[in-house]
Amino acid sequence: MDSLYDFTFSRLEDSLRDAGIKALHAKEVYRAIYKVSGILVPAVQAWVDQRQPVETTVVRDIASSDGETRKFLLRFADGQEIETVLMGYRGRSTACISSQVGCAMGCVFCATGKMGFTRHLSAGEMVTQIKFLNTHLASEGKEPLRNVVMMGMGEPLHNFKELMTGLEIISDPRGIGIAPSRISISTVGHIPGIQKLAEAGKGYQLSVSLHGASDDERGALIPVNKRWPIADLLEACRAYSEKTERKVLIAWTLIEGANDSDDHATRLAELLKGRQVHVNLIPLNPTEGFDGHPPSEERVLEFQRVIKETAEIPVTVRQRRGIDVGAGCGQLAG
Ligand code: SAH
Ligand code: SF4
Repeated sequence: MDSLYDFTFSRLEDSLRDAGIKALHAKEVYRAIYKVSGILVPAVQAWVDQRQPVETTVVRDIASSDGETRKFLLRFADGQEIETVLMGYRGRSTACISSQVGCAMGCVFCATGKMGFTRHLSAGEMVTQIKFLNTHLASEGKEPLRNVVMMGMGEPLHNFKELMTGLEIISDPRGIGIAPSRISISTVGHIPGIQKLAEAGKGYQLSVSLHGASDDERGALIPVNKRWPIADLLEACRAYSEKTERKVLIAWTLIEGANDSDDHATRLAELLKGRQVHVNLIPLNPTEGFDGHPPSEERVLEFQRVIKETAEIPVTVRQRRGIDVGAGCGQLAG
């Protein structure tokens, strides 16, 4: 049976109706699960009691030295573990959520990729990460989460159906209520997933991990580039921004000597010229089993300058957070 956290609002209404309860009670149930626990009428309480929440155990909880990033290792009932990261920026909190145990995509620079794929997370297992972090924030007297990034362990679009259900629950204003525009989905470039996401038309922010400007260079870092090559990927991005009227974020992990030269920046800029995109540069975070290094700060800034000058598109550098506790991008491996 599905857990209590697997119910979208409309499914909850249906299920209540099936149990002979008026659908208008769905609002109270959502409020009691995700906002403040209140007293429910006995029949509704009985419906709730028949479902289990997703139980998680905190196996580890590490704060970065500046105290702004916190990484939680959570264990589910079947013993599988995932990481969830909480990042604070001036009183505003962002959650970095996992969508799978491990990942099947095998990117060479990523610790999660090295683990291989174990299983997908259910919608409820994604929702429970948010609920857990909001409870944690409340215990510290802080405001609830403002933003969510699907950038933890796993390839979210490889787990499309559960992802969509989870995000529908997370963004429902009657419950957790994090608006779709504050939710980012990061993908390795899973084209069928991007197409389905465009069709769904929910307005989530899409971030595509590019990291290489030619199929050879990208393919050396991201094996699935063979299946979903750059030209097709950029076409899928174009269709996504046309449908959603939003820019697509292009993530570029900078690896010294591999994709950080002025020539790489120029070719990236040529590729993206005239497109509705925003580039986000991520200096490589160290991971075991990959012998790469981040470029110097000057190199990162120079790379940024070359793109801006060549293509006049916005380019930002992602703040590196939680690196000292292995909570940075690509460092999550349980
Ligand atoms: N599977 C999705 C989301 C999780 S990875 C994806 O690949 O997009 C989140 C981001 O971290 C991606 O942009 C990924 O390329 C990047 N990343 C992975 N390993 C990294 C590392 N060692 N250093 C910096 N960024 C890394
Ligand atoms: Fe999977 Fe993303 Fe890591 Fe690639 S970078 S292995 S897609 S989690």
